[in-house]
Amino acid sequence: MGEESFAAERRRMVEELRRFGIRDERVLAAMGNVPRHLFVPEHIRHLAYEDTPLPIGHGQTISQPYIVALMTQALGLKGEEKVLELGTGSGYQAAILCELSREVFSIERVPDLAKTARRRLTELGYRRNVHIRVGDGTLGWPEEAPFDRIIVTGGLPGIPEPLWEQLAEGGALVAPVGGRYDQYLWLYSKERGRPRRQALCPCTFVPILGAHGFPTEGNRKGGLSRPFDSQDLREGDG
Ligand code: SAH
Repeated sequence: MGEESFAAERRRMVEELRRFGIRDERVLAAMGNVPRHLFVPEHIRHLAYEDTPLPIGHGQTISQPYIVALMTQALGLKGEEKVLELGTGSGYQAAILCELSREVFSIERVPDLAKTARRRLTELGYRRNVHIRVGDGTLGWPEEAPFDRIIVTGGLPGIPEPLWEQLAEGGALVAPVGGRYDQYLWLYSKERGRPRRQALCPCTFVPILGAHGFPTEGNRKGGLSRPFDSQDLREGDG
């Protein structure tokens, strides 16, 4: 497939997102700009604009376009924000965030994925406002805190305390929370230090592993950190 047909496929994807209810024109424009086919392995490029998650190696996936759009829209980016992402993966979500905010900090646990994502983002010209680090994202990026927005692109058993602490007052955090194999997508906002949350939709993400994520082989007691209990939460309108 040539660049022309990828561009046509991308336009079709954007129309589909619109039909699915994505309304933020800036988000739709960003999804129309970023060449998603360059973020997936070559042999499945022809599937890049289908509304489906795709494998990116190391047992990980690039999220389906609708979920990327929904999470990004939920963040309500205006262009001046400092954003933290957990789970760089292919770097696609990071590229979308780069289009819509001032500066993006993204953490990836698998060194090889981080390396590939960094190279891609540099080649595509996003180098100016994106920073990728290898590590356990559940600990956040304390040297760069606070963040106006935080996006978690893997499932979590609860919101890690360090992330909540690193979220700016008035900031928002979007994350899939639940079990290892299925979660619910929530939008949290910090109002006078207290959490408020709004339900988005059920979802299925690969798990975030780590100190405040799901346990790995070497860390059997992961997933225990919760900065607030559900009774502390005030439900939002949605
Ligand atoms: N946002 C990505 C999709 C990410 S899939 C994209 O646009 O392609 C989730 C990613 O989270 C995987 O790459 C996985 O390796 C990574 N991950 C899992 N646990 C992590 C942790 N504790 N810190 C950072 N990344 C983690």
